[in-house]
Amino acid sequence: MTHAVPGPDPRSGPTSEPLGGPVAADPVRDPWRDAMRLALAEADAAVSAGDVPVGAVVLAPDGSVLARAHNEREAVGDPTAHAEILALRRAAAATGEWRLTGCTLVVTLEPCVMCAGALVQSRVERVVFGAVDEKAGAAGSLWDLVRDRRLNHRPEVIHGVLGEECAEQLTAFFRTR
Ligand SMILES: [Zn+2]
Repeated sequence: MTHAVPGPDPRSGPTSEPLGGPVAADPVRDPWRDAMRLALAEADAAVSAGDVPVGAVVLAPDGSVLARAHNEREAVGDPTAHAEILALRRAAAATGEWRLTGCTLVVTLEPCVMCAGALVQSRVERVVFGAVDEKAGAAGSLWDLVRDRRLNHRPEVIHGVLGEECAEQLTAFFRTR
């Protein structure tokens, strides 16, 4: 007597997604990819002056680009000329308002303590970064200044948007040093 098997054993599902199948969209990170590509292009512009390639973009609440900047520490000889600081200043100048309420700052590398402080001061709604900076990051790695509960403003933090591309851009730069 044969044992009838009505269908596939439910315990033996596919072990991996079929090749060529659709890649599941990530609803958290996907909306920020275009802005991160802009930030990556901006970061490229830092290299000609010998600056570490870090780029930042500030988006208005409607998603339009308010400002973009790259690291200019070597270019202008200013220790505070990080991409985020310059982008925040340009966004504030563009709007005529130091409060960047509802705005999003997108940056290729996790902000340092100085930039994290400036981001809190600017009242941006959201910080999106690509590569993690385990040695100096202040948005979740070494410190989490932007989300410190003792501060009166805490932007949302989204990390890992095009993270591999952002990390590779930095690795490629330091490889040539
Ligand atoms: Zn910084």
